[in-house]
Amino acid sequence: MNNETIMKMGQEYVMNTYLRQPFALVRGQGSYVWDADGNKYLDMVSGIAVNNVGHCHPKVVEAIQKQAQELLHCSNLYWIEPQVQLAKMITDHSCGTKVFFCNSGAEANEGAIKLARKWASKKYGSGRYEIITALHSFHGRTLTALTATGQEKYQKGFEPLTPGFKYVPYNDLEAMTMAITPQTCAILLEPLQGEGGVYAATPEYMTGVKKLCEEHGLLLMFDEVQTGLGRTGKLFGYEHYGIEPDVFTLAKGLGGGVPIGAVVAKGEAAETFSPGEHASTFGGNPLATAAAIAALSAIIDEKMPQQAFEKGQYITEKFLALKEVHSCIQDVRGLGLLVGMELSFEAKPVQDYCLKKGIIINTVQNKVVRLVPPLNIPYEDIDKCIAVIAESLKVIEEGRAWKGQ
Ligand SMILES: *Cc1c(COP(=O)(O)O)cnc(C)c1O
Repeated sequence: MNNETIMKMGQEYVMNTYLRQPFALVRGQGSYVWDADGNKYLDMVSGIAVNNVGHCHPKVVEAIQKQAQELLHCSNLYWIEPQVQLAKMITDHSCGTKVFFCNSGAEANEGAIKLARKWASKKYGSGRYEIITALHSFHGRTLTALTATGQEKYQKGFEPLTPGFKYVPYNDLEAMTMAITPQTCAILLEPLQGEGGVYAATPEYMTGVKKLCEEHGLLLMFDEVQTGLGRTGKLFGYEHYGIEPDVFTLAKGLGGGVPIGAVVAKGEAAETFSPGEHASTFGGNPLATAAAIAALSAIIDEKMPQQAFEKGQYITEKFLALKEVHSCIQDVRGLGLLVGMELSFEAKPVQDYCLKKGIIINTVQNKVVRLVPPLNIPYEDIDKCIAVIAESLKVIEEGRAWKGQ
């Protein structure tokens, strides 16, 4: 099938939940993808922070092929070798001591929220169930993850939402201090707000929130679904802040492209659940965990956090140089290879221009260009992308000047 046929069929049979580009991707290799008509694109989105190790990393492909011949699935009523190996690997490389596996980011956050409520009810008795999250946060689309998400636009029409959530402005320690009540059991935050416009937490905020959690006996929970697995220049985003969360969630980059999510907890929090209190049929199944072991090994062996740090700095420097000549660039921010460039106008025309030149980029909150390429993207591809973005800004600025905007 070609792009047109696939798109027409999709419009007829697939629910209309995404504003999709008019082509279908059928192949990927490294930082490149190909559509059904044979067009090649440089992928600066990587499945939105999923393909951290690039498309079809040979180690991931090999692990999937090997596991597919052995055992695709079995129930969590039995022990699963790659699952226990992956759990050990994650805890060996993080502050966590135990892991629960699920299948997506939203589901991981649901698991963390359930863990916090159960932990508080066991520790303090009933009535301590409130969780504080940030405005402009993003935690996923299941009803409770959506409730945790501090953005009304996503919640509209789905009321009544799950009770027990409270929202505060991000990076505002005083607001957080004021929001804590005797009903509070946990704080859930992203180390960097991705969907919210690429805003990183400040070190003072993170250490302040950690201190509040200790003082009030609250669980500190980080949503590392987008920031985890090397994306920000460290294996996990919290490492930038010299503090440790009690719980953090992973998904996106964990499986190298295969659906998998995880709730990682340490110490007392990690001992919260007993049999029957939380579960997932597919969670941590042999195929997904075998793929994740390979992806995580590649991230660690190929020093991808370091690569993300260096390339992120490289892109930021290039963008800051562009800012000197393009007054439409308002701000350049981010951590590692999660880079945001805020414009004074809608970023969509930049995205469209890049696409015409064979480069896939992404925008958030209308005015922010967000780059989330594979962590092993070659520098020459980064240069190619930056040259086209620069060109697009020039063309768009000239067009706007001509129209008197
Ligand atoms: C993408 C994302 C989610 C949701 O993950 P899904 O796998 O789509 O459910 C949750 N939190 C953050 C920070 C994300 O970026």
